[in-house]
Amino acid sequence: MMKSAARTIQRAAKNVKEGLLGLVYPRACYGCEASMAEQEGYLCQTCNDQLRPIKQPLCEVCGQPYSGDMSIGFRCSNCADRVLHFDFARAAYKSQGLARVLVHRFKYNGHFFLAALLGRMLGEAVKDPRIAITDPESDVEWILVPVPLHARRLREREFNQADELCRELARLHGLKMVNALRRTRYTRRQAMLDRTERLRNLRGAFVISSKVRERKMIAGSRVLLVDDVLTTGATASECAQTLSAAGALKVVVITVVRG
Ligand SMILES: [Zn+2]
Ligand SMILES: [Zn+2]
Repeated sequence: MMKSAARTIQRAAKNVKEGLLGLVYPRACYGCEASMAEQEGYLCQTCNDQLRPIKQPLCEVCGQPYSGDMSIGFRCSNCADRVLHFDFARAAYKSQGLARVLVHRFKYNGHFFLAALLGRMLGEAVKDPRIAITDPESDVEWILVPVPLHARRLREREFNQADELCRELARLHGLKMVNALRRTRYTRRQAMLDRTERLRNLRGAFVISSKVRERKMIAGSRVLLVDDVLTTGATASECAQTLSAAGALKVVVITVVRG
C-alpha cells in the first residue's frame, strides 16, 4: 500500500513538473518533441497528419475498416462466424505508425502524461453516430467501464491504461466512470495465443465487483467498455458477456486503436 501511495505521489509530481515546464518552456510535440505553439494541442501538424483515423466503410460489429466502395452496414468475414457479446466495437485510429508508438509508450514505457492525448484520441471514437455522445439531441446516458487488469499484472505495470483513458474521457464528456469489472484469473498474455486459445484462456476470467453488484449499478445501463487497443475482441467480448449478465442493456467497446 505504501509503495503504491509513493508511486502515486511520484507520478503526480512528475505531472506537475511537466505542467510547470510547459509554462516556462515552449511546449513540445508528444510525438516528435519539436517545439510548437500553444494552440496546436499535443501533436504538431506533421505528427497529426501521420495518424490514420478509422472512417467508413467499416465492419458494423468489430469496427475493422475496409478500403473501397462498400455499402454502409456490413459484417466482415472475421465476425460472420463468431459470437461476440458486445453490440459493436469502435476504434478511433488504425494501430499503425505514430498511434501505435504512442499507445506502446503509454502502456509499457510509463509515459503517463500521454493519457491526456490518448484520451482525446479515444474521444474521436465516441463521435460515431451510434454512440452520439457529442450529439446535443441525444438523451442516451452512457457509463464508462474500463477493461480491468489482474491485480498481479497491475502491480507489474503499476497502472491500468484503460483506467487512465476512462478517467480522461469521463472528464472530457462529463460521463460517469464505474470500475465494474474485476479480473479473477491471471491469464496468459493474449498476444501469444491463437483465436481458439484466446477464448479458452479468458472464459470466466471476469466478474462484477462486489460493490457494484450490491448497488446494482449495471442493471439497465448502457456501457462504453474502454480499452487502449482492440485486436480480436475476445477480451472485450468476455467482459461484455459479464456486463450483460449483470443487466447491461447495451455494451459498446471503444478503443484508441484497432490492431
Ligand atoms: Zn510532432
Ligand atoms: Zn468485423
